[in-house]
Amino acid sequence: MGRLTDKTALVTGASRGIGRGIARRLAGDGALVAVHYSTGETEAKETVELISAEGGRAFTVRADLGEPDEVTELFEVLQRELRERTGSAALDILVNNAAYGGQTALPEDVTVAELDKYLAVNARAPFLVAQQALPLLSEGGRIVNISSGITRSAQPDMIAYAMSKGVIEQLTLHLARHVAERGITVNSVAPGLTDNGKPMFSIPAVVERLAELSAFKRVGQVQDIADVVAFVASDEARWITGSYIDASGGTLLG
Ligand code: NAP
Repeated sequence: MGRLTDKTALVTGASRGIGRGIARRLAGDGALVAVHYSTGETEAKETVELISAEGGRAFTVRADLGEPDEVTELFEVLQRELRERTGSAALDILVNNAAYGGQTALPEDVTVAELDKYLAVNARAPFLVAQQALPLLSEGGRIVNISSGITRSAQPDMIAYAMSKGVIEQLTLHLARHVAERGITVNSVAPGLTDNGKPMFSIPAVVERLAELSAFKRVGQVQDIADVVAFVASDEARWITGSYIDASGGTLLG
């Protein structure tokens, strides 16, 4: 028996990177996982295949989270799929992980269109997803919002991304108070630089430079974040809510 046996989870942006790692880890702990994706259908199916090969249970759900109507549709499909598999639409764990990365740009160069995209996908969508999840969340449920260490350090050429991720902290704080009476916890987990499989993480000179950012002098791995999320999602973390959990390998220590 895993510690999440009989639990259900939705992980947004689980087609690749950190989200895939979180989905695999929660499924490894016994949860039935809805693997959300937007454009990466093949990759999302690969996530499900990996989970199945590891003895876990998962299925895919699709939505462009920048489109509010698609968030609503996602939850219609999610409820149907959960009912088919468990006899109920109850959701135990929501991981708001999906995010838009975009390009770096100094404040002078950020366009309205780019700013809107960051805010729609990284700030509005986690709220809308949590809003839709609220009636489905069971007593003792978990919302884990994936933030970023950048919300606690200044990087002017990432101002648009950082602003959009900063909203995660407010979402966490206010929602945590709202759902506490139902025994539901809401926390944010903030990765530092993490190898999400993108090409730059295959260039040794780049990795060596990026490793310097962490107090441990290595680049974060997907598993480093997934392990923290699995803890926060477990019953063992029942007394933690409204928290910002630094999962940056000491990047903010200076
Ligand atoms: P990633 O590899 O770029 O993957 C992003 C995921 O988000 C993909 O599954 C993608 O889906 C989904 N996504 C993007 N735009 C979407 C949209 N409009 N609608 C729905 N889904 C969308 O990201 P990552 O590096 O693993 O990051 C995961 C989380 O950690 C994010 O919240 C990010 O802000 C945070 N974070 C990452 C790092 C890092 O160094 N990697 C550092 C700090 C914080 P499709 O591919 O299917 O379109």
